[in-house]
Amino acid sequence: MAIEKIGVVGAGQMGNGIAHVCALAGYSVMMTDVKAEAMSAALALIDKNMTRQVSRSLISEDEKIAALRRIQTTQEIANLGQCDLIIEAATERETIKQAIFDQLLPHIGPNTILASNTSSISITRLASRTDRPEKFIGFHFMNPVPIMQLVELIRGIATDDETFNACQEVVSRLGKTSATSEDFPAFIVNRILMPMINEAVYALYEGVGNVNSIDTSMKLGANHPMGPLELADFIGLDTCLAIMNVLHDGLADTKYRPCPLLTKYVEAGWLGRKTKRGFYDYRGDKPVPTR
Ligand code: NAD
Repeated sequence: MAIEKIGVVGAGQMGNGIAHVCALAGYSVMMTDVKAEAMSAALALIDKNMTRQVSRSLISEDEKIAALRRIQTTQEIANLGQCDLIIEAATERETIKQAIFDQLLPHIGPNTILASNTSSISITRLASRTDRPEKFIGFHFMNPVPIMQLVELIRGIATDDETFNACQEVVSRLGKTSATSEDFPAFIVNRILMPMINEAVYALYEGVGNVNSIDTSMKLGANHPMGPLELADFIGLDTCLAIMNVLHDGLADTKYRPCPLLTKYVEAGWLGRKTKRGFYDYRGDKPVPTR
C-alpha cells in the first residue's frame, strides 16, 4: 500500500505541523479547514517555521521551497478524494470529527486510509461509523509536530495489519518514532499526562500554590522542561478539558473529574496561548501569571 498523497483536515496548531512534516518528507499534501483564514495562517506559519529550520541548518533553502510547493489548500473537502491517507486534525469534538468522516466517504477510493489525530476519542467508535473500520487508525502526533519525536499509533478493534504497517512506514519516513497504544480513553501519553495537568490546576484551585510556584516546582523539582500550567496553555485549555471529560466518561472513575477551575478558564474563553490568555497572559512582552 504505497502512500504518496496525504490529506490533512483542520489547519490549526496540529494540522499545520502535520502538513509541515509530511511535505518535508516528500509527500504531497492537501490541507483543508472550514475557516479560510486558518489555512492562510497555517501556510504563513509553516513558511516561518521552515525558515527557522533553514537558519539552524536543519534543512536547506531548496528543501524548504520544494516542501512548500508540495502543500496545497482547499475549502472543498471533495478535493481530498485522491489522497492515500487522510489525517483528521480538527477540533477535539466527536460530532465534528464524525461529520468530517461522513463528508469524506463519498469522495474517497476503497483503499484510502482514514486516520484521526484525536488526543482521546475512541478510534473504534469513530471507525465504526465509516465504511472501513479496518482501514481506520489513530495517528496521534505530539505538539509541536516538527519538533516532537513521538507518534502514537492507535489500533481500533478492527484496524488491519496492512493499515497499521503502512502507517508505521509513514512515521519512519517522517523521521519519527511510533509507539503503539491500544484503543482506550486518551491512549498512553494523555492517560498519564492529563491527570497530572489537572492535578496542577487543582493545586492552584485549592491554593496549594500560585501559577509561578506550581510551574517552578515541577520544572526544578521534577526536571520537567515546562511547568504543567505552562504546558496546559501550550496544548490549549479546551483540549485539556475535552481530554479530561473523555477520561472521566470513558473510565467512569471520579479520579478523572476535571477541575472546576479548568472549566472556568475554558468558559471565559481563556484557552491558553492560542487566545493569548490562560494560566498566563501573553498579550505583553513576557507571559504574566493570571493567578
Ligand atoms: P486547533 O483549535 O488549533 O485547530 C482545529 C482546527 O480545526 C481549526 O482551525 C478549526 O477551524 C478546524 N475545524 C473545525 N471544524 C472543522 C471541520 N468540520 N472541517 C475542517 N476543519 C475544521 O486545535 P489543535 O490543537 O490543532 O487540535 C486538533 C486535534 O489535534 C484535536 O483532535 C486535538 O485533540 C489533537 N491534538 C492536539 C494537541 C495539542 O497539543 N494541541 C496534541 C495532539 C493532538
